[in-house]
Amino acid sequence: MHRVRPSLKMSTVMPSSHPKSGTPMLRAEDLRWLACPICHSSLALESTAVRCTGCTRSYPVEDGIPVLLASRAILDPHMHF
Ligand SMILES: [Zn+2]
Repeated sequence: MHRVRPSLKMSTVMPSSHPKSGTPMLRAEDLRWLACPICHSSLALESTAVRCTGCTRSYPVEDGIPVLLASRAILDPHMHF
């Protein structure tokens, strides 16, 4: 297990100049407006990620903002085909 803590945050999603302390809670209803960038299915909220209900990819949540990038998608290791 790698612990990668990037010291340089090169976010292509939302360049935030105001790093907030205290992560805002992401609510499940917020995900109603979001969709998987790969298959456009709806998303399910998990503790530290959002999971696509269509292709079972997961996306990290950073600072309360789901990072819905195909390049950041995490394939579910529990899925075996
Ligand atoms: Zn998907």
